[in-house]
Amino acid sequence: VGHALGFSALELATREGEIVSGLLTSRVAEMMERRLIGESVARIIGEREFYGLAFTLNGATLEPRPETELLVDLAIEHLPMGGRLLDLGTGTGCIPVAVLANRADASAVATDLSAAALAAASGNAGRHGVGGRLELRQGDWFGALAPHPGPPHEGEGEDRTFDVIVSNPPYIASAVVDGLAPEVRDFDPRLALDGGADGLAPYRVIAAGAGGYLRPGGQVMVEIGYDQGAQVTALFGAAGFRTEVRQDLNGLDRVVCAHHL
Ligand code: GLN
Repeated sequence: VGHALGFSALELATREGEIVSGLLTSRVAEMMERRLIGESVARIIGEREFYGLAFTLNGATLEPRPETELLVDLAIEHLPMGGRLLDLGTGTGCIPVAVLANRADASAVATDLSAAALAAASGNAGRHGVGGRLELRQGDWFGALAPHPGPPHEGEGEDRTFDVIVSNPPYIASAVVDGLAPEVRDFDPRLALDGGADGLAPYRVIAAGAGGYLRPGGQVMVEIGYDQGAQVTALFGAAGFRTEVRQDLNGLDRVVCAHHL
């Protein structure tokens, strides 16, 4: 209601006796209809808060979720002064934008397969004043980092190594996606959810490729499903990483940190 009327939460409380126009009540009714069929409030109003910042969403981006804030905390903690971050599958750009907004010394590259997702990330980077330190690249995982043909584009870093590589990849097994809550299943993009037959396909690609892009002492940090700790740890272990599993605020396994040996 506040969004439809252009009221802050405070105004909503202090102006409760006011009569609003039919146009505005029909706008509220239309939003309620969308909510009733399962669309989330964040999608209806077009943005969601993450790490204290508002992120604009579109149909190609996942809604940022609070458990992913752990990845931001860990990246901020591990990045050295002037450090470089890579985010694979950036969606709204919530992870690198939140890191850069809190680390004025750092810079980042963010990739996504979806051009529409990158457009959202670009808008969010500008909205939070970090656009000059975030390079966006379209493509599949590390494939997005391949040099463009010809001379480097403006603002494009030559350096293809990173202190921290993060990703919150699609990690839900294909067959499980259809059983998710309607808010997720019908409105979050499938590309952002579906991690292949066993939900682990992106981790295999990341574990196999990350070593070539990490600086000495660098770390890979990936978000995982609460029950994927053992499997993802095994994948990174087999690729030559030493790993640890970190828990989110609910006490559930949520991030695997992998140090290159
Ligand atoms: N990195 C983005 C986020 O955390 C997108 C993740 C995804 O689409 N799987 O919201």
